[in-house]
Amino acid sequence: AAAAQGDLEWKKGPCRFCGVGCGILVGIKDGKAVAVKGDPRSKVNKGLLCVKGYHQTMCIQSKDRLTHALVKKNGTYVKTPLDEALDLVASKMKETIEKHGKDSVAMYTSGQSTIPEGYVASKLMKGAIGTNNLDCNARLCMASAVAGFLTTFGADEPMGCYEDIEHADYFITWGNNMAEMHPVLFSRMLEQKQRRGAKIVDFATRTTRSSTASDRSILFEPQTDLAVANAICYEIIENGWMNKSFVEKHCNFTKGLTNIGYGLEDKFAFKDKATPIDFEAYREFLQDYTPEKVAKYSKVSVQDIKYLAAIYGDPNKKVVSYWCMGMNQHTRGTWMNNLVYNIHLLTGKISQPGNGPFSLTGQPSACGTAREVGTFTHKLPKGVVTNEKHRRLAAKIWKVPYERIPAKPTYHTTEMFRAVDRGDIKFIWTQVTNPLVSLPKTSRYRPALEKESCFVVVSDVFPTPTSDVADVILPASWHIEKSGIYGNSERRTQHWDQMIEGPGETTPDAWMTIEVAKRMGFGDLFPYSRENHVEEIYEEYIQFHEGKKHGMAPLKALKRKSGVIWPYVEGKSTLWRFNAEYDPACDNGKAFHFYGKPDGKAVIWQRPFEPAPEKPDAEYPFWLNTGRVVEHWHTGSMTRRIPVLHQAMPNAYIELHPDDAMDYGISNGDMVKVISKRGACTMPASINERGLPTKGQVFAPFFDEELMINDVTLDAFCPISKEPDFKKCAVKIEKV
Ligand code: SF4
Repeated sequence: AAAAQGDLEWKKGPCRFCGVGCGILVGIKDGKAVAVKGDPRSKVNKGLLCVKGYHQTMCIQSKDRLTHALVKKNGTYVKTPLDEALDLVASKMKETIEKHGKDSVAMYTSGQSTIPEGYVASKLMKGAIGTNNLDCNARLCMASAVAGFLTTFGADEPMGCYEDIEHADYFITWGNNMAEMHPVLFSRMLEQKQRRGAKIVDFATRTTRSSTASDRSILFEPQTDLAVANAICYEIIENGWMNKSFVEKHCNFTKGLTNIGYGLEDKFAFKDKATPIDFEAYREFLQDYTPEKVAKYSKVSVQDIKYLAAIYGDPNKKVVSYWCMGMNQHTRGTWMNNLVYNIHLLTGKISQPGNGPFSLTGQPSACGTAREVGTFTHKLPKGVVTNEKHRRLAAKIWKVPYERIPAKPTYHTTEMFRAVDRGDIKFIWTQVTNPLVSLPKTSRYRPALEKESCFVVVSDVFPTPTSDVADVILPASWHIEKSGIYGNSERRTQHWDQMIEGPGETTPDAWMTIEVAKRMGFGDLFPYSRENHVEEIYEEYIQFHEGKKHGMAPLKALKRKSGVIWPYVEGKSTLWRFNAEYDPACDNGKAFHFYGKPDGKAVIWQRPFEPAPEKPDAEYPFWLNTGRVVEHWHTGSMTRRIPVLHQAMPNAYIELHPDDAMDYGISNGDMVKVISKRGACTMPASINERGLPTKGQVFAPFFDEELMINDVTLDAFCPISKEPDFKKCAVKIEKV
């Protein structure tokens, strides 16, 4: 009604939710956010939003909002002045370091943290304290993409951009339900389908809304995407579709280790071993992946494999491959990323308008924060801890002794919570994330965090199962209650100014980190002002990019525009990396330059099919797959507090194939217990509703903290990226 009266002040920013990074305009009246609409000037969404985007601000005023700090005293949470709570956090952190060493404390942050928030967390842990015990929840969603980029190209983040959608003839989605996970991008694809006949091919393990809206849906047996990708490469080579001149100029062939384990044992040090091979050796390796051989175990027909290969192999067709969690949350996630790159490299369909592999992200700043400012254990802002030059640069900018920054990564996410369980980590601070719903096998990690041996600090906007086990709960600002900067899936950095005041003592996470750092005696390293800390931190951060041809936009450019893509060059389009026409860092005089690698050549990896760590058997006869739904975002801590979204999707469910449901006498809505070797979860059956798993598979979304499917999942991970596989484990079902 207020909008209709036209008396709103509209302020711009990015959406709080997914990695698409749509531009929003928030209507403000009397200091309150009362409306949201898509920003028509945003190059990402051109005014369009999805259902989550439109309703995002409706959770801010939720009755159970965390507005003040809470400190647990004798088992009860006591409202405490924020200053006092921050004193306690700082003194506990300091005391723990003094008693048990700097590696006994940890921070666990998020791809939902802003760039300044991630930056100061990295500076506190790595520069001030001197521990690499910092990881973030992007480990659960994007780590395989990072490892895939680094192993193939030596440089992280996609080379293309969303504008590819307007150029491509084919979109091939690999295990990615874009209609629900990246709905605004999917709408852009559908528009191209209608306007000029672009085709969408959905390659997945179950039928989803994306499959039904696609031109062709091809289903595969879980884990066999590895084999199908190799079969596509086989077909490309044997049919003479390889772009020989591109491959000769720009690629090397390399073989990696095989049988690399699944991260189930408590070991996390793994180093891949790369051995150069020649083209003939690679071609020989592919002889095990003829369409006929692969069809036998992938359940993809020979005809469908040949169809996919022919699309990639057609020199007159432009193809974009999209993927997200289906490929990344995979015990061979790095390999799967490498394999899709192989397809694009063999055909030379890469880094050009409408041609390229594109890994999407799930969180609003999985790229900007998790990957760019050093919130993974192995990362520094624009660098890695294992590189001496990068450590020296960080030490110089942070004004700390070089020796203080440790050269070895410590705990990735799963191992961090295993270390809490073992008693090695005695203090952990989580910011903007909810691991007790999002970790795999939460049935193991919940008791670990409940132990008295670990002091738990949780910063969040709402109570969650993670804050339920905290010793101190800090009240965080929601995104429009603070200024911030996010980086989306297409390397677009987006700044916004604070739009409204938050309630009570809610405070930006960056400022709470700074206050704790000051109380620990690191005040001289954190000289930022409360009013301008976002800008001051960003100005410091971009010093890491000084003199680089692939740097970030200056603050004034960010403030001027609705998002700026890096590499930033004033007045130049830099939409496609590694392509000399667009990327200023290409300086070898050739059309393409993969400058992340010493010889400027990308790597075509020999990566075999290997089975999943746990497969259905006589006792546990079903594959379990988990994921999301369009109405809810991640663990549902925000979207379940938005009435319209909660009403549309009130609880999680278990999706069954109708034949399996009939075999077990299960009807729609019946309660079904899903049981694995690790735990159980009871949820209502969904048959012939939104999605359709193939026979022998079940699917459940993970957004529901009451019906928590992650009690059931397996904490196996890709040994290269350390990203867990939430998409495959063995379960049995019982009608309750
Ligand atoms: Fe927000 Fe993602 Fe929806 Fe866009 S597609 S409105 S970024 S949740």
